[in-house]
Formats: sequence, structure tokens, C-alpha cells
Amino acid sequence: MDLQLTGKVAVITGGSKGIGLGIARAFAREGAHVVITARTEAAVTRAAQAIADEFGVTAVPVASDVSTAEGCQAIIDAAAGIGGADIFVSNAGTGSNETVAEAPDDKWMDFWNLHVMAAVRLSRGLADQMEAKGGGAMLMNASICAVQPLWYEPIYNTTKAALLMFGKCLSTEMIKRGIRVNTVNPGLIRTPDWENTARELKGDDWQSYLQEVADEHADIKRFGTTEELADFCVFLCSPRASYSVGSAYHVDGGMLKTV
Ligand code: NDP
Repeated sequence: MDLQLTGKVAVITGGSKGIGLGIARAFAREGAHVVITARTEAAVTRAAQAIADEFGVTAVPVASDVSTAEGCQAIIDAAAGIGGADIFVSNAGTGSNETVAEAPDDKWMDFWNLHVMAAVRLSRGLADQMEAKGGGAMLMNASICAVQPLWYEPIYNTTKAALLMFGKCLSTEMIKRGIRVNTVNPGLIRTPDWENTARELKGDDWQSYLQEVADEHADIKRFGTTEELADFCVFLCSPRASYSVGSAYHVDGGMLKTV
């Protein structure tokens, strides 16, 4: 299938590693130029160079914190610098670990800014660029935890649920401007974030810990790869998914326990 993405510009936050890097690589493989962002300058620069070398596309790194207004503006400016965005994937994020009784207000606000306000600010700024180019697509990377919480991370669950709702509200507004918005809710995807958690909890035995997690939660009994998720995301953002508007799609190996 030709995804009709050659020459398009895709902006992916959190594109230096894990799911975001997988999505950026999958766009580049289809001939799209990418703007990838992360806070760690060396890592995002290295990732962009590797994508440009491997796929022969333009790959622009932006080192900024998406949980701030200035960090988002730097990304909007970078996208404008290569002709404007056609596609935006709001991906940067991370898990949490707390109880409601003990977590301070600041922690709630930090995750709100990272998971929700980044998507608000970037979709607002990038929509003008997409409209000027005749339309576009946006994808919110929420989580299965937006609808099926894990007990140890109430702040993560709550802010991802807010992102899911934001995507729905945004969709109704944006489709009038020719921009499709959808949300993806991944289950267990093997990324550096999960591997670091496993190492912290189990040391040398971290691989068997990941298998235990998969056995407990996912009907398919394994983690997904970033490539498996990325292919789905890239299709959803492509013109070939032109009738998919305002929906949430689970990519979770059977982890969701409801219909
Ligand atoms: P990783 O930790 O592997 O990667 C996270 C990426 O986001 C990195 O590039 C990181 O770079 C960047 N990032 C984190 N905070 C910020 C910030 N404040 N500003 C800019 N960039 C930031 O995570 P995953 O790939 O596992 O997760 C990606 C997304 O997918 C997250 O939103 C996560 O909630 C979601 N998800 C993941 C699942 C999984 O099983 N892995 C399941 C469901 C959802 P840097 O640290 O340098 O800023």
C-alpha cells in the first residue's frame, strides 16, 4: 500500500527513543521528513542524524521541554522552518508512581503540563501550518491506562484520560479545517522506559520481570515492539486512513478487558 507520505512533514515529540523514535523512523521509511523533539540535546541530535543517514530525508532535531510554552514554541518554529507540518504526533510522556494521599500538587501539575498542555499548545500552533497546506493529521499517544488504570500510577492514568478526551474535543473542531485527529492507546510496548524500570526493580533478572508483566496483563503474552505500534500510527496519520476521525484505537495485544 502506498501511504502517500512522500515529502510530508511529520512532527513527533519524544522522538529520540522508544515509541517516538519508532514512529519517526516509520514515517521516514515512507519518505516523510521529520521533526523530532526531546529534552536531551545529544540524544535527539544523534537520532535525527541516524534517520537522515538511513532514509535520506530531512530530520530536524529540537531540544526542548514540551511541558513548557517556550518548549512548544521552539517545535512550532522548527516545523515552520521546513515548510510547515502536515502531521503531528503528541507522544512525549512518561509513567508515574504514587498514591493520591501522598503526591504533592506540583507532581499533578507537572504531568498535566507534559501529557495535556503539550498537546494543547502544539496542536494549536501546528494547526495553522496544516491548514495553510490544505489539511493534515494529528495523533495523540495516550495509553490503555486512559481507560483501564494501573493501580500504582493514578496521576498517569488521570492525565492520559484527559489527553484522550482532549483528542476527541480537538477532532470535532479540527475536521472543519481539514485536519483529522485520532488517539492511540498502546498496551505494553517494549521501550527504554520499561527496560529501565525492570532493571531498577529486578537487577539482572529484569528480562524475566518483563515476561511476568506480559503474562499477567496481555493476552498475547508478550510486549509489543515499537515497530508494531509505529506502523499502525503511521497508517492512521496517512491519507489512506482518510475516514478515521475522532476515534481511539487500542494496540495492546489483548490487554483491554472490556469491549
Ligand atoms: P521513553 O521513555 O522510552 O521515551 C520518552 C521520550 O519522550 C524520550 O524521547 C524523552 O526524551 C521524551 N520526553 C520525555 N519527557 C519530555 C519532555 N518533558 N519534553 C520533551 N520530551 C520529553 O517512553 P516510551 O517510548 O515508552 O513512551 C512514549 C509515550 O508512549 C509516552 O507518552 C507513554 O506514556 C506512552 N505509552 C507507552 C507505553 C509503553 O508500554 N511503553 C504504553 C502506553 C503509552 P528526553 O528524556 O530526552 O526528554
